Amino acid sequence: MRKGIEAMRKNRKKKSGNVILLLLALFCVGIGIWLAASENAPIRSNKLDERTAQAAASPQTEETGYTPKENHVVEPKVTDTPAPVSLKWRKKTTKLKVGKTYQFKVSIKNGNAEKIHWSVSNKKIATISAKGVLKGKKKGTVTVRAKYQKASVSCRVKIAETKRKKIIGIDPGHQQTGNAALEPMGPGSSTRKAKVAGGTSGTSTRIPEYQLTMTVAKSLKKELETRGYGVVMTRTKNNVNISNKERAEKINKSGADICVRLHADGGGSSARGASGLYPSSQNPYVGSLSSKSYKLSQSILKKYCAATGIKNRGSVKRDDLTGTNWSKVPVIVLEMGFMTNSAEDQYMASKKGQKAMVQGIADGIDAYYK
Ligand SMILES: [Zn+2]
Repeated sequence: MRKGIEAMRKNRKKKSGNVILLLLALFCVGIGIWLAASENAPIRSNKLDERTAQAAASPQTEETGYTPKENHVVEPKVTDTPAPVSLKWRKKTTKLKVGKTYQFKVSIKNGNAEKIHWSVSNKKIATISAKGVLKGKKKGTVTVRAKYQKASVSCRVKIAETKRKKIIGIDPGHQQTGNAALEPMGPGSSTRKAKVAGGTSGTSTRIPEYQLTMTVAKSLKKELETRGYGVVMTRTKNNVNISNKERAEKINKSGADICVRLHADGGGSSARGASGLYPSSQNPYVGSLSSKSYKLSQSILKKYCAATGIKNRGSVKRDDLTGTNWSKVPVIVLEMGFMTNSAEDQYMASKKGQKAMVQGIADGIDAYYK
């Protein structure tokens, strides 16, 4: 029983302690509410700001009426992912000539082709415009790159030198009136020869050699130009006075690569055929041009005789020709045929014959350069 009273007392004590704790708790809550109330306005405004931001990030929320829960992050939709870019010029390596241009074309998905950034690895070798036009500047290799965002493609391009066209010097032999005044046969030579000899003439046609060589030279010039050569003539009129030395110097200064001196032969009435006169390797002035001159002579004779049917008398070494000895480029005298031979005279004077002769000489020059 005492034990029971003791327990009741303890119980009462415990109850009164609980009441105190409860009152304390209420007091704290009261303070809390008061503090909360004083900060009410800014809290609300923060929440509004959050919602506005989320709505802006994801317009879906307003349209669907869906209000994102707290801490729910809505990722903005990415619509401009790096697009795959590809060059249409698919060769790994390709060539472009100096001075020429090439328009690159790129196919692009999900992007604006105008925003492609073009670049080259070396602007001294080639340049590229904002629209992808590549221009060759000088010999070399460049990498062309097309970039769009993180995607890029590239292409190696070889810039090649444009082949300079070959310049052919043509000297239509002789002139209306010869010049018997003398000039040295070669540089430093004590041997002096007539500046321009008179030349021969057609036994049948009476055409003078200077006229035949001019007619053929003019057609040959046209033909060679059609074939892509540059042509330099020592004379374009018959009524001139230009020595053989002067003709050679004119060709030397012109930048010509080779020189073909057109002549026709004179001899007995039965003599016939074409020959090529070239300097020997022992020639004190142009010995170094001997082998190339020989090659030129052989190339032209072969094609010339094949085209015309004129007999090939072959290449003949001649070191006594002023117009040859002053040359600085491979040079030959082409004796096209004998004007003292009636048949060859008439053939060379005919349009048909001249057409074949010109084709043959041009073919020979082509062959020389092959
Ligand atoms: Zn001649």
